[in-house]
Amino acid sequence: MIIIMLGAQGTGKGTVAGILSKQNNWIQVSTGDIFRENISNGTELGIEANKYISKGALVPDEITISMVEKRLEELKNEKGIILDGFPRNLEQAKKLDEILANKGEKIDWVINLETPREEIIERMLNRRVCSKCKATYNLKLHPSKVPGICDECGGELVTRADDSDADAIKNRLEIYDTQTKPLVDFYKEKGIVIVEEISERINRFADDACKDFMQKIK
Ligand code: AMP
Repeated sequence: MIIIMLGAQGTGKGTVAGILSKQNNWIQVSTGDIFRENISNGTELGIEANKYISKGALVPDEITISMVEKRLEELKNEKGIILDGFPRNLEQAKKLDEILANKGEKIDWVINLETPREEIIERMLNRRVCSKCKATYNLKLHPSKVPGICDECGGELVTRADDSDADAIKNRLEIYDTQTKPLVDFYKEKGIVIVEEISERINRFADDACKDFMQKIK
């Protein structure tokens, strides 16, 4: 089973992908998390990627696509994979189809989360992530039980650097509108976009929403 999460920043893609992978023993592949891990480990990939991420730009396709291709190869025996944050543009989407076709696989479903535009910036500003396990919280909609501490692992909650930089936020939204949003139609044409969920609900009732997804997916 290969699932893609689509939706603007802060809509709850990571939250839904995390719950679905936990419930079904699927593997969540978040390109943003892989980049951030490389940045904090100071790897060559991290240093290169950070030049773009810090400005809110996309990391170049050749770097991102080969990173994802490598990860998919490592996960070839897994029963389910949820891609969270990839593809981000048409080039990546087409390349992903090609990579999967070469393995005799295809994307099964695309979960598209929609959020009113005016909410998105607020969501980014209120987002906190666990510095250890990467679980995501929202100070207003989905706070941790103890402020600043992850419910899952007790790790420290932090603000992502690109969530606190106004220029980076603006760039990311522009890229979403011009490059990522057109993917919804790309996948709709294939008839595999099965859910358009209001993210308000994802944040408040994420577990229930995920059960609904599973009903539709199965
Ligand atoms: P995210 O955690 O998905 O919001 O990703 C954080 C940042 O990582 C993005 O703003 C991009 O700079 C970079 N990034 C993540 N996924 C991709 C991708 N598929 N293509 C290019 N850049 C990406």
